[in-house]
This record gives sequence, structure tokens and C-alpha cells, in this order.
Amino acid sequence: MKKLLLASSISFALLAAGCSQPVTETGTTQNAVAGEVIKSPNDQREYRVVTLDNNIEIMLVSDPNTDKSAAALSVSVGLLQDPEAQQGLAHYLEHMLFLGTEKYPDTNEYSEFMSNNGGSQNASTWLDVTNYMFKINNNAYDEALDRFSDFFKAPKLYPEYADKERNAVNAEWSMRREMDFFGQFKLGRLLLGEHPSNRFLIGNLDSLSDKENSELHKETVDFYNRFYSANIMKVAMISNRSLKEMETLARKHFASIEDDGIDEPEVTAQINFDDVGKKRIHYVPNEDVKQLKLEFIINDNQEQFAVKPNRYVSYLLGSEMPGTPAQQLKDAGLIASLNASAQPTFYGNYGVLAIDVELTNAGMQQREEIVALIMQYIDKVRAEGVDESYFKEIKTSLNNRFRFLEKSDEFSYVSSLAETMQNFPAEYAISAPYEYREFDPEAIRSVLSQLTPERLRVWYISQDEPHDSELDFYEGKYKVVDIPQEEIASWDNEPKMSINLPKVNTLLPESFAIKQNDAFDKPKVVIEEEGIQVWQYPSQLYSDQPRGVFYIQINNDAPIKSIKADVLTALWRDLYNMNVSALDTEANIAGMNLNLSDGTGLSLTVSGFTDKQPQLLERAIDNLSFNVEEQAFKQAVDRYIRELQNKGQQFPIYQSFDAYGQLIREGGFNQTDLIETAQSLTPADLSNFIDTLMGNNAIRVFAFGNYDKANLEESVDRIQASLPEDRKVTDFKVAQFWKPETGKSIVLRRDLDVADVAIVDAHIHPQPGFATLAAGTVLQSHFRTVAFDTLRTEEQLAYAVGSFAPNLDNYAGFGLYIQTPVKNVADMQERFDSFKEEYWEDLQEMTPEEFNQIKQSTLITLNEQPKNLMEEVSPFLADLSLQRFEFDSKEQLIDAVENVSLEDAKTFYQQTMLNPDAARISVQLRGTKFAEQPYAELPNQKIISDLAEFHQEMEKQ
Ligand SMILES: [Zn+2]
Repeated sequence: MKKLLLASSISFALLAAGCSQPVTETGTTQNAVAGEVIKSPNDQREYRVVTLDNNIEIMLVSDPNTDKSAAALSVSVGLLQDPEAQQGLAHYLEHMLFLGTEKYPDTNEYSEFMSNNGGSQNASTWLDVTNYMFKINNNAYDEALDRFSDFFKAPKLYPEYADKERNAVNAEWSMRREMDFFGQFKLGRLLLGEHPSNRFLIGNLDSLSDKENSELHKETVDFYNRFYSANIMKVAMISNRSLKEMETLARKHFASIEDDGIDEPEVTAQINFDDVGKKRIHYVPNEDVKQLKLEFIINDNQEQFAVKPNRYVSYLLGSEMPGTPAQQLKDAGLIASLNASAQPTFYGNYGVLAIDVELTNAGMQQREEIVALIMQYIDKVRAEGVDESYFKEIKTSLNNRFRFLEKSDEFSYVSSLAETMQNFPAEYAISAPYEYREFDPEAIRSVLSQLTPERLRVWYISQDEPHDSELDFYEGKYKVVDIPQEEIASWDNEPKMSINLPKVNTLLPESFAIKQNDAFDKPKVVIEEEGIQVWQYPSQLYSDQPRGVFYIQINNDAPIKSIKADVLTALWRDLYNMNVSALDTEANIAGMNLNLSDGTGLSLTVSGFTDKQPQLLERAIDNLSFNVEEQAFKQAVDRYIRELQNKGQQFPIYQSFDAYGQLIREGGFNQTDLIETAQSLTPADLSNFIDTLMGNNAIRVFAFGNYDKANLEESVDRIQASLPEDRKVTDFKVAQFWKPETGKSIVLRRDLDVADVAIVDAHIHPQPGFATLAAGTVLQSHFRTVAFDTLRTEEQLAYAVGSFAPNLDNYAGFGLYIQTPVKNVADMQERFDSFKEEYWEDLQEMTPEEFNQIKQSTLITLNEQPKNLMEEVSPFLADLSLQRFEFDSKEQLIDAVENVSLEDAKTFYQQTMLNPDAARISVQLRGTKFAEQPYAELPNQKIISDLAEFHQEMEKQ
């Protein structure tokens, strides 16, 4: 699911920035049935759904254990309702609602209140929904709701901010216009003829402007008055209060939102498939990719969520079991991956069932054959694939997940509930994705009957595609042609490869038994033999869960010392992932995950239900060594190089943090050197490297969750068996951090292929230790809010701007970051520097009471109980990776935060941001728009031109 991946990969900038794009699929509202909310047997929280007199529907979730309260409100309106003359208006209005209300007229009040109370806030706009959400410390919930609900009663919509905020929207567009997802999504909609989903989603200075007969501010107010009616709003609330108290709060804050009794905005426009279907779209993206997509436009069948025909069909089409097209095409070296997915309301009142294929160079030469094979497989599924055994497999998988459903962060939980309530009756808001009531051949056949050439668009996506048109608002060129009649006719032929339907999954868990262990007070070594050290720690919070995380590090420092080893490790990981992708899919269906990552050697993680983990682990380990085939190796090199080059198309803000991470720690190499090295390597190099690394290493295992000693011994035997007889045990090594030194600034400069500028600017405190880290941690939330209010809301320099308090192993830092479409590097740096002085004035005015409030909020956040196994294990894995075997970094930080005073925070700020001798780290990325303009000069700067050389010479901690 491209959309999901995308949203999670950009969430960092979004949290900083205040408006995101949404994550879930959306659709039309149905009449909610009053009744019990269906919840997981694993869910101890209490639920209640109430509909107030103004017809707003509210879901209350009471969780006595939660440390934070949250709420979300969704409105069933979005791009599909944008006026023709003001495209992007629904999104722009979403921004404007944050800027002051009748009761709280100050534009900064909301964000300051949130940050002083451990809160966070965001919103998102999509085709048919706009969703607003926040999270806050429990004790500030009532006050937060008072501010939040006033958005929907009496927003100021100040004309003077109307113009300012257009720039924020424009900066957001500028950030996304080079992203291929948005370009393709726009083109997909544009080619639907007169259908209203063809409009511009984000908006920019051109589309949102005063025009003849259309004034932006007036249209914004009209849009609000017309669509923001209580009867098309859904609210989800979670807190530690009782349901009764929550219902009182809900009434207090949401009952007075006006109900205009409007009709649910609905799109009924019909797509004319004679014009839209049987098309081939040649698309030239910004990234160097080789993709093929079969996109079938299907009818919206969201109301069939309980029998899931889309899920059933995608399950069969995307299967990688032996004999399926995914497996056969991969085996023939034509594709790297094949995924099938469906979204029933992708284009508003129409959905999409898509098959996404990553091609190899060989596959690029045989695209017609690949399309034919997939079409022939669809015929086969139609003829033989409607079978109850697959239904049972999917049902078991969904049931297991639902039975042991884990909690998620309150912020995302309410957001997803408020949006889901727009699509499904409230009682199914949690269970809808897992409901699978019966085998419904009729519904499945109906979807299959729509997978026809008439509803098909075949996308050819690569940099070599022919093109005759350019997109408006996005970087992307394209050409649309009819699929030749002969080609369509060839889909009726017999397949050229033998294909068959998938066989059954063998990894579905059969037992959910809980393993018995003695009490642990922290992780401890339970096995230490022949260079394998096993740490064990059962879950302290979720010991009733039949789940676990099994993490194996095969440590060798060659990849951080030698560029050749670094590239070979990456190629190894890539080929491994190719080899195990069928296993990975099977494991996912069974509620497990498999992951291999590279760094100082390799790390293999197996997680999820523990019952079948030994089988999964065995197959995962057996695959670590393999014969390196010439063709597969070349394809891996090709992917490796393209992936490196494509990094240049990412958001500058991501590229800047990527560069920052490479700069401060051993193991980074220059991109051109990496590419050259990759081109020089042979399959024999990789074979030898695999032998060398498996034969020379130190192994560390961290087993967290539902394991006992016997499991661990068995696993160690399995690992031993995969190692060569003459294996040598080496010292365990980790990548070292740069040691900051007084009076030294390190600067990394790069020219970008994309338009905007990005800067990361950090000052490091001269004293290592938790006391300075604690001061930075507390001050951060306040500093970030002031930076956002000043640099974004008031000065409109960026969409993504904020601050961070990094630690370089033992040293604490403090800094600012930004992606800006309006200033060059030198000018932006100058503004950062003057802002640092301005903030000092603010800080001097802070009272001890204000500081104490911020500190208490920080403590609540730090002490928050982990919501699931992954959250619980992550601080332990972080300590493990830094060789902190006391596993108490988090407690030490909390203790230090408890002792921080306002004076300490001021001193910390002076010794970092205002200290001319503080060590500094500066990343300066210069966008194409500013290519002729200067970089920033820093005092005592050392410009790093060769990363590897710098890492060799640098003083390490
Ligand atoms: Zn936005």
C-alpha cells in the first residue's frame, strides 16, 4: 500500500509541521447503529457511543491506564467539495482553523497551550474527509477540548492571516510537488474526465488567490459555513476518566457546535469507461524507478467490509506461493516484487484494485508479456479461485490479529476512529478491518467481473518513457495511448509460463500458550557460549501476550571500516530480501514479521506470535548464505545504485537529517564512491564476503517476550548450525560517534536536484552526561513552539520547521532545522542566528512556574507506559546498540529531568546556542532554486568534503 508507506515515511516532518496528509482510506458515511462497540478480547478499555442533540456522533474510550488523553474530530468534506475557482480550499481552511477562535483569539495560543501541557496536534485533508486531532496530558484535557472544539464553533478566520497562511500551504505544495506519489495520483485523477476528483488537492499561491468572481477569504468563510455542520462530524475521545465523566465533557464541548442538518456531501458523477479504460499511461517520474502498474477502477464496495471481497481477490493476486505469477516472474528474473491492493473509495465514489510491479532491466523488455500473464492469471482466479479454503486462511489470520490486538498511540487511535466512523457504523469502528463473517462467492465474483480491459489502465513508469504532456502543479511528464487491440486479444491466449493458484499457509499459529519464566528485574545474559551471547527479558507489561521479538546481531566492523564491505553488506541484504519475500509474505499472514538490516554486520529480527517462530527462524537463518547468481547480482547492483540516486529526490528535510546522521558517526561514505565501488564488484566478491562474515563475527541475541530457556537453547543450536566449523569469534564493535570539541564546527554542504533549501544547525554542549541532556529535553518543546510560531506562522519561511535536542552518544545538543522555498542558505542561517538571540529574551522572561509546568509535562511524556510490545522493547534495544548493559538510560534521563531547574535550562541554552565556542554541526543543502546563491559561513568551520576521510581522522568518543 503505497499510500500507507508514504504517510509513515514523512510523518517526521509532519509532526513538526502541523498538517499532514492522511493515512487511511475513506468513504461515505452510513447510518450508525447504536449499540455495543465490538472490541478485541485483548482490549480492557470501555467504550460508549453517544449521539448528541446536534446529531454529532461521539465515541468515548475510557482507559484508566492511559497517561495521555486525546480527541479527534472528522468532517465529511474534502477536495471533492472544493470550488472549481479555489482548488485546495478544503485543505487551506484546515490550516486556517488553527489560527485563533472567538474564545481564544491569539493565533499562537493553541500551539503554546499544547506544548506547555505535553501535547501534540495535527490535521489532514483528503478527498472526502478532513480530520483534526490532538493529544495532551490527562490533567489538561478539559481545557484542551475547550480550545479544540471552538475551532468548530467560532473560528476567527482572520483576513490578515488568510494571506500569510497561503504561504504555508504553498510551502507544503513546494515540498511535495517533486514527489512521484502525488504526481501520479494527480494524473490518475486528471484522466477520469469530468469527475470532480480531478482537482488539485494541496493548493498553492496560484490556485488559492483572489480571482474575478471568486475572493479567497469569502470563499473560505462560505465553505466553512456551508460544510462544517455537526451532523456530518464524528468525534473520538480517549482519556483516563470514566465513561460518565467523558460523556459530560463531550456534551460540554461538542453539544453547541451548530447543526445545519446538511446533506452528507456526496459525489455521484459517473466515470465513462469508454473514454477512461483500455489505456496505457507512460509516466516519467523524478525517481529512477522501473515500475508497471495494472490499475482497475472498481465500484465502491465499502459497505461489504464484513465479507471483504477486495481482500480476498488481492490476497490471491499478490500471493508469492510457488507457481503464482509473483513467484514465477521473480524466478525468471523479470521482476523484483509484485503487490496487489485495493482501496474501495480511492477516487471518491469509485475504488481501485491495483497490481504494482517492480521490474528488472530484463522485465523492462517484456512488459507486454508480464501484463498478459497477470491478465491470464486473473482469468484463472475467476475460473478456479473462488474457494472457501482461502477464505478460511484469511479469516484465521484476521481473527488472530483481532484476538490479540495491541494498543496504539492515543493520537493515532482517535484519528483513525474518527475517520473510520465516517466510513462504517460506529459499532464496527475497531473491528471493521478484521470482520470476516462469511464466505461470499457472489461478492468475490462481482469484484473479479470488474477486472476487465474496459476498466483497466496500465501504467509504464520509468525515466525512459515517451511523453507529450506535462502535469500542472507537479513535476511529471506523461503520454496516454490506447492499448492496441492485438495486445488485448493476446490476453485470451494460453499463458506462456505455467501458473497456478497458491497453496495453503503453513505458518499460521496453532497455540497461544504462555511460557513460564522466573522473575527478571532487567535483561540478563542467559546463554554465553562460543561467541554467542543471549540476553533474555520477558515482557513486564504484556506477559499474557503470546508474542515476542527475537533479535540477532551478527557483528563485524568491516562495513564501517571499508567501503567495499559496506556495499557488499547492502547487496547481501537486498538479495536476501528477494530470496525470502515469499516466506516474509507467508509470515505476515500468520501474524509474524521478518527483517534483515545492515550496519556493523547484519541484524536479523523475527517478531510476532511465538508459536511458529522457530520454524520461521530456521528458514530465515538458512537463507543467510546462498549462491550468488550473476543475473540476480547485477539486478541488485542496479537497484542499489538507483536507490542511492533516488535519495536525491526525497524531501530536502529528510536528506538533511540523513546527511546529519552520516556525518556524526563512523560508517558513512561519499555517494559517488559508493556507486563506483558497486559497479566494480562481482558475484564472487559477494560469495567470498558472505563466507568471511559468517566465519568471523561476534553474535548477540536479545529475546524479548514469550520465550523460555528451552526456546533460546534451541535457537542458539540453530544459529550455530548455520555457522562454518572454523568460525573465528571477533570482538564486538560498534560505530563510534564524533567527539565534539570546543571551537570546532563541522559543516557538510551539498547541492540538491530539488528546489528548496534545507538546513540542520546543532550546537553541542561541552559537558557530556545526563544533566545536560535533561536540560535540552525539557527546553526543547518550548523552543520548538516558539520557532514554529515565529518562523512559520508569522514569517512564513517554511512548511517544515522546528527544533531538536539530539544526543551524540554522551553529549547533548540543541538545534534548529528547516526546509524553505523562500530563502537561500546564507540568509536562512542568518535568520536562525538572530532567532537564537531573540529566544534568549523569551527565556529570560520565563517564570519558574512556567518552567515547572513544561518540566512536569516532559516527565509525564517520559514516564508514559509503553502501549505494546514494540514500544516496550525499544529503549532496551537502544541501550543494547550503545552497549549500555545496565539498560537504565531512560531512568537516568528521567532522574536527571526531575533535577533540572530553570537556571540549569538557561545555562544550558547559553552554553549551546549562545556560546561562540560550542562545537557545531551544520548541514547545508542548497536547492536548485538557490544554486547561484551563497552557503553560510560559520566561525571555526571545517568543511567536510570526504566523509570516509573525516571519519578516519576524527576524534571519537
Ligand atoms: Zn497542510
